[in-house]
Amino acid sequence: MIPIAKPYLGELEAQAAYDTILTGWITQGPRVAEFEEKFAAYTGAKYAVAVSNCTTGLHLAMLVAGIGPGDEVICPSMSYIASANSVTYVGAVPVFAEVGTDYNLDLEDAARKISPRTKAILLVHQIGLPGNIDGFRALADKHGLVLIEDAACAAGSSYKGKKIGSHSDLVCFSFHPRKVISTGDGGMVTTGNEAWYQRMKLLRQHGMSVNDRVRHESSKVIFEDHIEVGYNYRMTDIQAAVGIHQLAKLDWLVAERRKIAARYQEAFGDIPFLRLPSEPEDCITNWQSYSIYLKPECPVSRNELMQNLLDKGISTRRGVMTTHRETAYSIKAPGLRLPVSEDLADRSIIIPLYIPMELSEIETVIAEFRKALGV
Ligand SMILES: *Cc1c(COP(=O)(O)O)cnc(C)c1O
Repeated sequence: MIPIAKPYLGELEAQAAYDTILTGWITQGPRVAEFEEKFAAYTGAKYAVAVSNCTTGLHLAMLVAGIGPGDEVICPSMSYIASANSVTYVGAVPVFAEVGTDYNLDLEDAARKISPRTKAILLVHQIGLPGNIDGFRALADKHGLVLIEDAACAAGSSYKGKKIGSHSDLVCFSFHPRKVISTGDGGMVTTGNEAWYQRMKLLRQHGMSVNDRVRHESSKVIFEDHIEVGYNYRMTDIQAAVGIHQLAKLDWLVAERRKIAARYQEAFGDIPFLRLPSEPEDCITNWQSYSIYLKPECPVSRNELMQNLLDKGISTRRGVMTTHRETAYSIKAPGLRLPVSEDLADRSIIIPLYIPMELSEIETVIAEFRKALGV
């Protein structure tokens, strides 16, 4: 069986988790602080805040950006549902805009959907490919909006020569096993805004004025105050210890993933009824997923193709979902149609890409994929 993805974890991560457990300090503490420092240095961001997952990171980002009831946030429907959910959590309304053939938010459609209630734009770097950050920055500035990046899939990707995480004041990452590096669950928010950094640290730990570590290390008795209603969105030190080793491997993992993607590009380049993913000149993608679009003239339907490949022991996934067609959102706006997003979601297939992927596995995927299409 060839899986769709698997995390790249080894002895170093296992040992780090083991060692952390034996220190007796297992929740947010010194390892989390070290992971944050290293993640900020890696991305070139001023600050990084570790959280329990990317969804809670997005929630904190919405809160510190001041988004609340009555506000609108422009975001793609074509994304994992957590993107839109983070907007809904704060009582605001996600306003869905179209994406382009690169699966990323379309600048012109987003501009058309701005209303007097719009407060922010949530730009998703879908399956690792950076969106048009400069274009959206200009649009956001023109209308006085906050630009938040959902970089759940984009750790290790770059835009215009700089790592994702350094371009905007709120950039949220995921370390779920389906992403390029993993801590089991886990997330990180990078920012250059000191006030937002401080408030995110407060909110992730119940709004507590003194964190556990400061209290633990103090020679004087300290009493904490809970300044506002916060959350428990902490990452554990066990996860952070794993994350430190994962981060050290990130550039190598991206380089290895790029080799596999390059082989797929070459192997499928001659098939006229496929549209292969492409990488704009100013972007470097980490190829979190490799998604192929089947043009209408493709002789096999997407779902048939997925079943054929599964029968051969090759796991695939449908392309990125649309949020507006999920019941949680379709009940709010039953008439909403986003033809580009719907077509992309219905006709795309994600094929296996993970490290280490043996040469024989790569060639099996290629051969079976071609066979299933009759080419
Ligand atoms: C995976 C993903 C998320 C959610 O990340 P978690 O860490 O699982 O909360 C959010 N947005 C996008 C675009 C994702 O792909």
